[in-house]
Amino acid sequence: MAKRPTHDAAKLIPDRPTIRSVRDAARDCQACDLCKLGTQTVFGEGARKAELMLVGEQPGDQEDLSGHPFVGPAGKLLDRALADAGIDRTAVYVTNVVKHFKWEPRGKRRIHKKPNAGEIAACRPWLDTEIELVRPRAIVCLGATAAQALLGKQFKVTAHRGEFIPSTLAPIVTATVHPSSILRAPDDDARHLEMKRFTDDLRAVARALAGKR
Ligand code: SF4
Repeated sequence: MAKRPTHDAAKLIPDRPTIRSVRDAARDCQACDLCKLGTQTVFGEGARKAELMLVGEQPGDQEDLSGHPFVGPAGKLLDRALADAGIDRTAVYVTNVVKHFKWEPRGKRRIHKKPNAGEIAACRPWLDTEIELVRPRAIVCLGATAAQALLGKQFKVTAHRGEFIPSTLAPIVTATVHPSSILRAPDDDARHLEMKRFTDDLRAVARALAGKR
């Protein structure tokens, strides 16, 4: 019998979830209209028991096509910043608050469009389950959408980036910018400065994980 679409992602989560079974279940998610826009569900990836989880906003154009998170230009910049901060990318779990790419056409290009509160809420069971299963010691929110989803609507990354925020989500929780914002810096000097600040934020998390804060 054909599966009936559900509008509640929580109902798709298996009784005894594992990252693999939850990822498989998320492929069929139709809990919001973004399933009609994106090519596929882009679930989180990385070490099953990662100490560090990075949470972004949503997959981008290349992530949507490949089915993997943080593989486009912002992901490459993230890789570089992690390496410079002394963090092994293969020991990290990377994911997004929304698992489908939201976009609008501009000529032949697909331009990123910010997910709305309803889409973020609809997708939340997937992220909550990832956090529950991975149980990272540190969570870093990348950008305002992730930070406000996990730390509250009033949270401002511009004012509180790099601060360690008390949270029930993990022992160490903080927020910084999304690496895509560094790509949008107006010139080389601004880009270098933003990259340095981003790397410093990640380095502080690495120090905290090593018990050195
Ligand atoms: S964005 Fe999230 S809630 Fe919406 S269809 Fe995709 S996986 Fe489901």
